Amino acid sequence: MKIDLHTHTNASDGSLTPTELVETAAREGVDVLAITDHDTVAALSEASVAAQRLGVRLIKGVELSTFWKGISIHIAGLNINDEHPELLSALLRQQTSRLERAKRIGEKLDKALGCGNSFEAAALKAGTSEIGRPHFAHYLVEHGFVKSHQAAFKKYLGAGKLGDIKDVWLTMEEVINVIKTSGGMAVLAHPALYKLTHTQRKHLIGDFKLAGGDALEVVTVQAADLTHSMAQLCEEFDLLASQGTDYHGLTTPWITLGHLPALPKMCRPVWASWNIAC
Ligand code: AMP
Ligand code: MN
Ligand code: MN
Ligand code: MN
Repeated sequence: MKIDLHTHTNASDGSLTPTELVETAAREGVDVLAITDHDTVAALSEASVAAQRLGVRLIKGVELSTFWKGISIHIAGLNINDEHPELLSALLRQQTSRLERAKRIGEKLDKALGCGNSFEAAALKAGTSEIGRPHFAHYLVEHGFVKSHQAAFKKYLGAGKLGDIKDVWLTMEEVINVIKTSGGMAVLAHPALYKLTHTQRKHLIGDFKLAGGDALEVVTVQAADLTHSMAQLCEEFDLLASQGTDYHGLTTPWITLGHLPALPKMCRPVWASWNIAC
């Protein structure tokens, strides 16, 4: 079984439409696909139609932005009811926050660059998608302010830089609560990615577990020693394990949808209680 539980469409910062993403999954032989766009479930109804047509098992998901002790973190909700009113109202709050944050990023960028339309340019790039820092990165590259997407994050948008505004999101407890209220499982996304010491990471995972978190994303596109270390943390904190590529289409050309190493044997998969044959 090929299982990829972390992917993005152009409803957030991915490049593919929901249908194109599901078609890519089918082509790559993915059996189970979760779409986890940033703070939106807008892709899911179109994706469901394509998934049914192509025989891909679609898991409804979302990736919510929050923060913990001053660092931005992401929590995925998997197997959610995407029509649950409490989830929809939480998403609306997150989406309003995204827009406000983008305006603040735009103001700061305008000052730093000495020109006056970063927000408008990023909003144009986003179109009807949920606006995010990658839309600013596209603008910065296109106008020659930086050479690459990575450089845009390194200089302006990444952790500790002017685009790193984190006081806008629902709290970690609120995010986990709303995922669980809507019937989903809460997964700490890419836990090895956050710039934390081992002790701090354990503290984060302890708080995540205490707040009702279900699983760590143990397997993602990362070095094998990190996967091993995340698997150990799963065991230590009695959490389930998830796996996903964090595929974004064209902006992550080094990632192949569904292409992941196996979940370490010691892990209990987050999907074990779902109705999928594996
Ligand atoms: P946002 O949702 O606006 O906070 O933007 C976060 C998104 O930006 C992530 O989901 C990635 O797609 C992208 N991103 C974050 N850090 C980097 C980085 N260092 N280089 C390239 N893209 C990044
Ligand atoms: Mn993203
Ligand atoms: Mn993420
Ligand atoms: Mn993601």
